[in-house]
Amino acid sequence: MLANSEQFLRQKNLIGGEWVDADSGETIEVTNPATGEVIGTVPKCGKAETKRAIEAAQTAFESFSRTSALERAQMLRALHDTIMDNQESLARLLSTEQGKSLMEARGEVGMSAAYVLWYAEEARRVYGDVVPSPWADRRLMVIRQPVGVIGAITPWNFPSSMLARKIAPAIAAGCTSVAKPASETPYSGLAWGALAEEAGIPAGVVNVVTGSAAQIGGELTKNPIVRKITFTGSTQIGKLLIKQCAGTVKKVSMELGGNAPFIVFDDADLDRAIEGAMIAKFRNSGQTCVCTNRFLVQSKIYNKFVDRLAEEADKLKVGNGLEDGTQQGPLINESAVETVEGMVADAVNKGGKIAAGGKRHSLGGTFFEPTVIANAKPRMRFTKEEIFGPLAPVYRFRREEEAIKLANETVFGLAAYFYTSDLGRAYRVMEGLKYGLVGVNEGMITTVEAPFGGFKESGMGKEGGHQGIEDYLDSKYVCIGGLGM
Ligand code: ADP
Repeated sequence: MLANSEQFLRQKNLIGGEWVDADSGETIEVTNPATGEVIGTVPKCGKAETKRAIEAAQTAFESFSRTSALERAQMLRALHDTIMDNQESLARLLSTEQGKSLMEARGEVGMSAAYVLWYAEEARRVYGDVVPSPWADRRLMVIRQPVGVIGAITPWNFPSSMLARKIAPAIAAGCTSVAKPASETPYSGLAWGALAEEAGIPAGVVNVVTGSAAQIGGELTKNPIVRKITFTGSTQIGKLLIKQCAGTVKKVSMELGGNAPFIVFDDADLDRAIEGAMIAKFRNSGQTCVCTNRFLVQSKIYNKFVDRLAEEADKLKVGNGLEDGTQQGPLINESAVETVEGMVADAVNKGGKIAAGGKRHSLGGTFFEPTVIANAKPRMRFTKEEIFGPLAPVYRFRREEEAIKLANETVFGLAAYFYTSDLGRAYRVMEGLKYGLVGVNEGMITTVEAPFGGFKESGMGKEGGHQGIEDYLDSKYVCIGGLGM
């Protein structure tokens, strides 16, 4: 059994069952964002290594696509158990390279295992159709087959679970994959290779390459063998990848940026709203695509809400994720801190009032104080831009229709949250929000059983739920004629 974090600190890439270095021997350093220390290196691979990984995945696909659904379900169950047997080591590694608190890291690894178990179950339910035939002597059916080799590109904010949502349905469907984790957090991605090996998944089914994003992404999108690209990351890179996929007409699934509104109506249960607000804003130091970007609060409850949110934000314990009691870790890098700092300055210049935090944390490095800005206005930068940090702007509104309009005034459409105790309003607002995920009186709603995915420039396709396997399958219509009936 794999035993400790060291075993997951794989400083090589997995291609066709072999752990290898970059052809050039070049490496990329990986640092701990809490301390700035170098944890290790990973290969700086490019086009040639990616091409080999794609070819290895294609070779593996020939036999893997013919395994039975039951066999693949059993492999996924073994993978689930391997993850859970190593939950603590994987969580420590994740916290070390990403910065999040150990508690959140354990939660993320648990979530990865949950996705794998869900797709172990879904693997056996990839049903086709028998279609009533308009011809007496023909029979019609629709069968579903794996699309082929998958390219999976993931970000640094959930380096374990974002790959779970891609690798698990790929295996369930009978696809093979080439994964490219973010260079900031490659070890949780490379760990998928080690875990797949340990769980007895055949060589070449899961390949992991690290290195130049443009070169690896370029090859994954241009190579005709790859039949689907699944990407989680910024809208900007998502758009680029969609364009690059046009040349070979690949399927694409995109989980892109968000600008989540969190609406609090006068009739809301304030305690519940504050509890949800803290999770929806400050989880992972505000670095999730479903994190609240804009609090929209109705006039009568506005002041109370700001005071309570500021009070709770002040209480958050900021520190190294590995230390006991830490609730908020560092931001991923200096540029993330500069973005948040810039947004605070912009808001203050335009009349925003700092109700909590507002500056770099006394711990130094990339730590930032949990921040609340009252008197937020549409002209401030964070109205349109994704914050991706522990900064909570609070806007004021008067009427229900105004709240829905403000909430929808964005190119994004991933997650939205609102709090009310009026049932009629709950339905009106829920139906009016142009978002792929809506939390009604709940601030954290992601679960493996439900489809995750955005509208508009937040992306296309769903991950999780029974929908999450769809994009890994082709539907084939078959007409069997000449039956002599
Ligand atoms: P973030 O802001 O979360 O880092 P990005 O969209 O920049 O979002 O990165 C998400 C993932 O996309 C990372 O794995 C990154 O290395 C990768 N990436 C960045 N640029 C490209 C590119 N040109 N082609 C393919 N992948 C890319």
